[in-house]
Amino acid sequence: MAPPFRRVLGAELVVPALDTDRLGTFSGEVPRPDALVETALLKADMLFEAMPGLDCALASEGSYGPIDRVPLNPGGVELLAFVDRTRGIRHVETLPTHRTSWRLQRFAAGDPARLRALTEMGFPAFGVFVVCSSDMSQPIKGLATVEAVIEAMDREARRSEDGLAVLYSDMRAHKNPLRMKVLRAAGWKLARRLATLCPKCHAPGWGWIDSRRGLPCEACAAPTHWIDFEIDGCPVCGHAAARPRKDGRRTASRLSCRACR
Ligand SMILES: [Zn+2]
Ligand SMILES: [Zn+2]
Repeated sequence: MAPPFRRVLGAELVVPALDTDRLGTFSGEVPRPDALVETALLKADMLFEAMPGLDCALASEGSYGPIDRVPLNPGGVELLAFVDRTRGIRHVETLPTHRTSWRLQRFAAGDPARLRALTEMGFPAFGVFVVCSSDMSQPIKGLATVEAVIEAMDREARRSEDGLAVLYSDMRAHKNPLRMKVLRAAGWKLARRLATLCPKCHAPGWGWIDSRRGLPCEACAAPTHWIDFEIDGCPVCGHAAARPRKDGRRTASRLSCRACR
């Protein structure tokens, strides 16, 4: 996060000593108190409690797993919450991604497929957790060697009611090089957004807030599900403005039209 904030905004980031695990963790023992956006903003607010002299806070939140529509393709989303309490800005930047090594699989003790699964998950560059399939309350973290993972898997499988151990990705950013890349990209996106000022009140954070669908069909001009225009907004004064599509299209393909198809 530091390079985009330094280069785009001339701002220095300070990392606080703060335990945010009570807001939910990637190993799954602490349930998420709320939706991702709220959790990210809550994390940022925790900084103000911890450091009362602070004006601005930045917090990140991520979620990875199987995508409902495509069960075999894992995906995820990174959120960055930025709060400036003097200017009254509460902005959450989101970055959906398919770039993830996220996996969750179950194995019996001694299953020869364990090793290949571990390699495919990128271990040890990428971290993994192991947990007993019938009692997921105590995941084993900090596994550093292949031997330690295999030993933990077999032990947890043997004590599980279904005889299986669960092997899954440790998605904490410092254990996941791919997630670090996605977070870096989200950092640039957020910094550039904060460098864009509202044309009306000049507050930072002007940018996209919504898309309107209904681009007219090229043949019959009926509204389609294609995006008609984008809406930019200000996080402080509420000013908003419509912006045409980036690709300059004024009509949608007849293939997307319910009336013409
Ligand atoms: Zn049509
Ligand atoms: Zn404004």
